[in-house]
Amino acid sequence: MELPAATPAPAPGELSGLETRGVSAWFGTHKVLERVSLTMQAGQVTALIGPSGCGKSTYLRILNRMHEMTGTAALAGQVLLDGEDVYAPGRRPSDVRRRIGMVFQRPNPFPSMSIQDNVASGLKLAGIKVGREERAHLVESSLVRAGLWNEVRNRLRTPGGALSGGQQQRLCIARSLAVSPDVLLMDEPCSALDPTSTRRVEETIAELRGRLTIVIVTHNMQQAQRVSQSCAFFLATHDTPGRIVETGDTAQLFGDPVDPRTADYVNGRF
Ligand code: ADP
Ligand code: MG
Repeated sequence: MELPAATPAPAPGELSGLETRGVSAWFGTHKVLERVSLTMQAGQVTALIGPSGCGKSTYLRILNRMHEMTGTAALAGQVLLDGEDVYAPGRRPSDVRRRIGMVFQRPNPFPSMSIQDNVASGLKLAGIKVGREERAHLVESSLVRAGLWNEVRNRLRTPGGALSGGQQQRLCIARSLAVSPDVLLMDEPCSALDPTSTRRVEETIAELRGRLTIVIVTHNMQQAQRVSQSCAFFLATHDTPGRIVETGDTAQLFGDPVDPRTADYVNGRF
């Protein structure tokens, strides 16, 4: 079987960026995010960095309305996908999640389901019906884009759980890509992976750059610098909710941070 021709990268303007304006969030009376305003440029990789507990995961889940499935955060502010309010009345959370996919820290394929069915499950979950041929094509092209095709092309019917951790994570990326999302959110996607698997996932992220908008949470400062073009530093203290201290071009934020707290954090001083 031949590799499918690479899908041409979309022209600038065909990609959707993501923006939040003054997003605050509470769990009960506990305020965890304070007026977070951030633009995540279309086709770029934006890294969210900051100590544990400063609200990065909460923020990510708010972006695609996933907190409505698993959490109960009350919200203020706006989330805009391609300029349109993700929380507009009448907009279905499932439609938002189809356009804004998520990959988690722990790879979570369906372990006993075959590799090909795992990828196709992304379509099913999104309620997208396709014929057999189209399905096979989407499975293949998604695995190619996730950088996993060559490793699994001869064993598409083996269970997803038989893959290594790093392969499982790329399988989860392929599952997200199957529905052609505009945005991919990644919450510490390499924290559970060894260095070699981490590199492979980073290569996949680099390949995806320019094809969709990526937001990645990472505690790995080298990784943030390797994969992202812009960066936002989040910080909370014992009595203040998480907020953005500094945003900027990644090279600038690491090389010449404006805020002394950013300098301390990126240089490993807390
Ligand atoms: P990070 O990802 O930066 O480590 P989180 O978004 O996970 O931070 O958490 C931010 C704050 O929100 C923390 O104080 C955490 O305890 C609290 N929190 C997170 N999820 C929930 C939840 N489901 N219910 C209540 N509090 C939560
Ligand atoms: Mg987190």
